[in-house]
This record gives sequence, structure tokens and C-alpha cells, in this order.
Amino acid sequence: MVDFELSGEQKAACKMAHEFALNEMRPVALECDKEGKIPEDLIKKAAAAGLTSVAIPDEYGGGGLDQVTASMVSEELFWGCAGIATTLGANSLASTPMLISANEEQKKEYFPRLCDPENPKFAAFCLTEPGAGSDAAALATTVQEQGDHFILNGQKCFITNGGIADFYTVFATYDKEKKYGGIGAFIVDRSWDGVSIGKHEDKMGIRASDTSEVIFDNVKVPKENLLVPMGQGFYNVMQTLDLTRASVAAAGVGVARAAFEEALKYSKERVQFGRPIIAQQAINFMLADMAMKIEAGRRLYQLAGWKAWKELPCSLESSYAKAFCGDVAMEVTINAVQIHGGYGYMKEYLVEKLMRDAKIMQIYEGTAQIQRLVIGANLMGVTDAYPWN
Ligand SMILES: Cc1cc2nc3c(=O)[nH]c(=O)nc-3n(C[C@H](O)[C@H](O)[C@H](O)COP(=O)(O)OP(=O)(O)OC[C@H]3O[C@@H](n4cnc5c(N)ncnc54)[C@H](O)[C@@H]3O)c2cc1C
Repeated sequence: MVDFELSGEQKAACKMAHEFALNEMRPVALECDKEGKIPEDLIKKAAAAGLTSVAIPDEYGGGGLDQVTASMVSEELFWGCAGIATTLGANSLASTPMLISANEEQKKEYFPRLCDPENPKFAAFCLTEPGAGSDAAALATTVQEQGDHFILNGQKCFITNGGIADFYTVFATYDKEKKYGGIGAFIVDRSWDGVSIGKHEDKMGIRASDTSEVIFDNVKVPKENLLVPMGQGFYNVMQTLDLTRASVAAAGVGVARAAFEEALKYSKERVQFGRPIIAQQAINFMLADMAMKIEAGRRLYQLAGWKAWKELPCSLESSYAKAFCGDVAMEVTINAVQIHGGYGYMKEYLVEKLMRDAKIMQIYEGTAQIQRLVIGANLMGVTDAYPWN
């Protein structure tokens, strides 16, 4: 039997996240989007409620949620506001390389920082560079061993929470010629000499989140902060993304669901040609497609999360979910604007923001094309996600 019933813990986690999204995030979402600002008081409340540390094991003070429940929480928070939810969720991405590879001392030192309800800190995942996006193996941030430490040099871009993080999980190469075979990873404190923040990006959507450049200029990294040794860093990246993509897919479902609900309500209220527009078959079928795809997306991300939780290979399902839900988020929000007609184009209607927010779901943590590349490679019997290397 396949069981679709949620457990008591899952229902409670979703209810709590939904109430937070409804009562705390929705009231400030439009203003934060307009100003491009992170609501600090709200972030503190979210941290106190455990919403910035859902994936950290409970022995370090985190929520210890499995990937299915964490993804369902993500759906609720992204329903509330995709920008604020991106800020809250980035710790999960940054801490996953550590969940995979950190030793006990590193976990004890860094995880509790993310779980402190009084003084919550953030971490950021530093992979992307100006010359290395989809082709992450082309990264040019270098690391050199010098006695009891490493020297880190390079520039990361588009880093979520880069400007507000307390520490970073950083991927760098010992030897660029070796491509993915030369990559390792490090835990780097923001306070260390040589770490600085560059440009803060002014974005189309998810504007209540910080996206920044992070620069490493001759940063001295102690040996105990080596997270993944040379040659294994790229596999840590691949494993990390396999484990986190269910949550990003769930984020797409959350944004799509928000847009669908707005469109459904509006279509029942808006009267043209003597009847509510939902009674027009063209609109009615559009809503039917939206409802169907949201439900299908939810099942896909739950499957990916379930496989991750069971420690089964989940690369394929994670890519199915990330690609499908990203596309659903875009399609549903575009159609929600369409159903609102001219009003949907106006900033006072939520669907305008949702359409801008949705676009990122097809870009970050692997673009829509890269997900298809993983799926296509699998169809050819190539399980290495980067067959061209
Ligand atoms: C708001 C935001 C937040 C982000 N947060 C983080 C973060 O926290 N940490 C981090 O490390 N990165 C982060 N990123 C970076 C993000 O993961 C990359 O932008 C993304 O992986 C794409 O890389 P790129 O922008 O360099 O695009 P490119 O790789 O240059 O791609 C450009 C286009 O070419 C396509 N393309 C590239 N290669 C292929 C191929 N082989 N086959 C088919 N099509 C291809 C892409 O799909 C895309 O359409 C963030 C990005 C944004 C916009």
C-alpha cells in the first residue's frame, strides 16, 4: 500500500508554518518586496520558532525534520512570501554539505550558531562564480596548503544571504586543470581577515532576500576547517543538490498555490459578459490545469524527499521534481496574472509579485535545462550528472 496520510508531526509542522506564513509573512510581503528589505523582527520570530534550522539535527538544537516534512514546511513558507522564505531557507542549503561531510567538532562548533533562538545566525552556500554557474566544475576560487592552514582566494557571486551570513560553506579548487577532480570545500567565518562582501544584487523577484558577492582575499583557513578534501568536493555538491532540490521544488509549489488561490477567488468575483469569468470555459480549464499541476508537483517533491530521507538514490527524482515544479510555478503564476486581466499587471495585486518570484524557481539550484540534462543523461544510462567532463 502507498500511504498518502500525513503523520501527526507532519500535520503539526505544516500547520505551524502555514500560520506563520499567513499571520507574519503575508502582512509584510508586498512592502518588503517593494523596498527590497529583509524584515529583521520577523526573521528573529522565525528563528525562535525553529524555521531557520528545520534541517539541523535536533542534538545540535535544530528541528531535525526529514526531507519530506522539511519540504512541506518550505511549501507553506513560500506560499507566504518567496523572498522572506528564501532568507529563512538558505541555512538548509548551506548546512547540507556539512550534514554530508562535517566531522563532529565542526558540527558542534557551527550548527548551534544557526539554532540559537535569541541570536540567530545565518550560513551561506558559496559555489557560483562569475565564470562558473551551471558548469560548477569550472570554478576558479583557489586554495593552497601552507603549513597548518590553507590560503583561499576568489570571488563568489549570487550568494543567498552572502551579505548577512556568519559563516560560509565554500567550494574551491586546488588545481583548476583537474576540473571537478580538484575541488574541495571549507567552512569559512565571515569575521576572518580577507573576507568581504561585494555587490548586493537588485533583483526581479524574491526581493526580501539578500543576494551578494562574497570575496576571499588571501584568507587564512585553519586546517580544522577543511570540510571536504581535494577531489571530493564536487561529489559533495552533487549530493547536496540531490538532497535540497525537493525543498526548492516544494517552494515552486508554494508560489504556484498562492497564485492559484488568488486566481480562483478573483475568477469567482469578476463578472464579464453577465457572469463570473470562472464560468467561461477558457478560464475554467486554465484553473483546472493549474490545480492538476500543483497536485502533481506536490507528489513529485514528496517522492524526491522520501527517497532522500530513506537514503535511496534520488538524483533522478530530485531533478524531475525541481524541473517540473519550477515550470509549474512559472506557468501557474503567468496564468494567474492572465486571469486577473489588466489588474494582474498592477503592483497592488499579489499575482504580479508572484509571477516575478516564480522565475527564480527555474534558475537557482540548477536551471530547468540542467535538470533535464541530468534526466536525459540518466536515460542514456549515464549516472554521472556531468557526463561531458
Ligand atoms: C537569486 C539567486 C540566488 C542564488 N543563490 C545562490 C547561492 O546561495 N549559492 C550559490 O552558489 N549560487 C547561487 N545562485 C546561483 C545559481 O545557482 C546560478 O545562477 C545557476 O546555477 C545558473 O548559473 P548561471 O547564472 O551562471 O547561468 P549559466 O550557467 O551561464 O546558464 C545560462 C543559460 O544557459 C543554460 N545552460 C548552461 N549550460 C547548459 C547546458 N550544458 N545545456 C543546456 N543549457 C545550458 C542555462 O540553463 C541558462 O539558461 C543564485 C542565483 C540567483 C539568481
